[in-house]
Amino acid sequence: MDFFDAALDSMKKANLHRTLRVVDGAQGREVDVDGRRVLLFSSNSYLGLAEEPSIVARAAEALAAYGTGAGGSRLVTGNTPLHAELERGLAAFKGTEGCVLFTSGYTANVGAVSALAGAGSHIFSDELNHASIVDGCRLARAKVVVYRHNDPGDLLAKIRAEKPAGGLVVTDSVFSMDGDVAALPELVKIKRECGLLLMIDEAHATGVLGETGRGSVEHFGIADGDVDAVMGTLSKAVPAEGGFVCGSGALCDYLRNTARSFIFTTAGAPAAVGAALGGVEYICAHPERVARLRGNCAYFAGKLADLGVAADAATPIFPVIIGGEDEAARVSAALFDAGVFVPCIRYPTVAKGKARLRFTLMAAHTEADMDFVAGALRGAL
Ligand SMILES: *Cc1c(COP(=O)(O)O)cnc(C)c1O
Repeated sequence: MDFFDAALDSMKKANLHRTLRVVDGAQGREVDVDGRRVLLFSSNSYLGLAEEPSIVARAAEALAAYGTGAGGSRLVTGNTPLHAELERGLAAFKGTEGCVLFTSGYTANVGAVSALAGAGSHIFSDELNHASIVDGCRLARAKVVVYRHNDPGDLLAKIRAEKPAGGLVVTDSVFSMDGDVAALPELVKIKRECGLLLMIDEAHATGVLGETGRGSVEHFGIADGDVDAVMGTLSKAVPAEGGFVCGSGALCDYLRNTARSFIFTTAGAPAAVGAALGGVEYICAHPERVARLRGNCAYFAGKLADLGVAADAATPIFPVIIGGEDEAARVSAALFDAGVFVPCIRYPTVAKGKARLRFTLMAAHTEADMDFVAGALRGAL
């Protein structure tokens, strides 16, 4: 017990101790936080679909038809027709032959990265990759080499130095805490030249990047099959729960037989699978929703530029880097007082001394919301 108290004390002294806040209400433009109505500017529900009637109905139908829990793993008793339908829908959405569903994006990355890079092979991983990729690397038996953030030149130099017999290049396609987009065309060239697999994490690209929200492959116009494994989550723009990896039929079959976070866990709950199906169908039918999000990105980037804050409208993630953990917490508190909810992001999510406010946009935000938030940020800074 002394150990826990001492560890917690040192976190508190460094302003790194975190507590849970209760967010009451569906993820929309406004929520109640700690009993106060505030504008939500930090959700990953980019398309604002959490209460979309057609999606809620799909979840309710799944619940009525299949009950509350799947009751078994996919390979034993838990594989309903809905799970298979969602895999077909996601493969069609991402333009691949196959898809494997996992119960979260986290387990998709942990399972796929560790399964695709076995003993004797290499993993080349961007230094700012999501923690779930990092954990997949730790579980893999391959040698892990970290390359400089979004730096294809450094990647190529490191591959040449290692002379790998085979393996994986893995990167977020949209970096979750910085909002920048990976240099995918260069990575495709390198992976071809070096005979490696390329895996991308589309958690923040699915439903967001590309004309119709299909992700970075659509954004860059990359050819079919140039990315071997396209991972994504069903918990962000798609307003449900679950993760997936899209790729060739053989790659998916291999993952179903080797990814331990696929094999040794219960299939996703029917209501979540129904909501995900409804979400993917909605996005396919409503490209104007993706376009509205893009319009909001351009508008908010302009607002930040007026404040002298560097902003890139390519994605709905706008980090305002403050630096010190204490200062960032104070800016976040001032914004909350003004009626805007943007929690401060700090170590271990980002490096020490790089604490930030991570503003995110939703398609549901209005120009008046963004004007208000920019004004509140000016005051808080
Ligand atoms: C959120 C996120 C994940 C994990 O997805 P969940 O479905 O929330 O488990 C994986 N990778 C990135 C880049 C993410 O931002």
